Amino acid sequence: MNLLLHICCANCAISPIREMGGKGIEVVGYFFNPNIHPYQEYQRRLETLKQYSETVGLKVIYRDEYLLEEFLRNVSHREKERCQYCYSIRLGATAQEARKRGFDQFSTTLLQSKHQDHQQIREIGDRVGKEVGIPFYYEDFRQGWRKGLDVSKAMGLYRQQYCGCIYSEKERFLKEIKMPNSKV
Ligand code: SF4
Repeated sequence: MNLLLHICCANCAISPIREMGGKGIEVVGYFFNPNIHPYQEYQRRLETLKQYSETVGLKVIYRDEYLLEEFLRNVSHREKERCQYCYSIRLGATAQEARKRGFDQFSTTLLQSKHQDHQQIREIGDRVGKEVGIPFYYEDFRQGWRKGLDVSKAMGLYRQQYCGCIYSEKERFLKEIKMPNSKV
């Protein structure tokens, strides 16, 4: 079985690739993440994936498009529901690409993260798979999170400090960096 794996970042890919490789699944990566902002952060995660994939011999298809304006237009005024859009565009694009290239299935490294809405990712994966006509491969990769982190550290990979969009960057850092007496 071969599978096109949406990769959000190198760190989250480590455990799923090991798990699926152990089951004899042939994995090709697919990088499409218009949710990562700002541009220097986007570029850094993309370059880190190149570093990782070259080291482990993983083939990756790069859809290198920094679609900041489109992303913001689509979540504007409904920022609290933005993750649903974010999962849908990335999984939808991966399903389309997998179908076009004749893969048997598609999946995503988002299933490795403890910080994402795991159930929503699974539901969206199943839905877009049915719409596009290619099965979504589901596995709970979260148990491999610690192992992936250890490998990432050993390889000296860059590890990001927030999910990706500018909203998540704010949620991660605003409280930390504001002055103690600030009313912001
Ligand atoms: S918090 Fe993460 S998953 Fe949600 S919209 Fe932002 S980048 Fe996407």
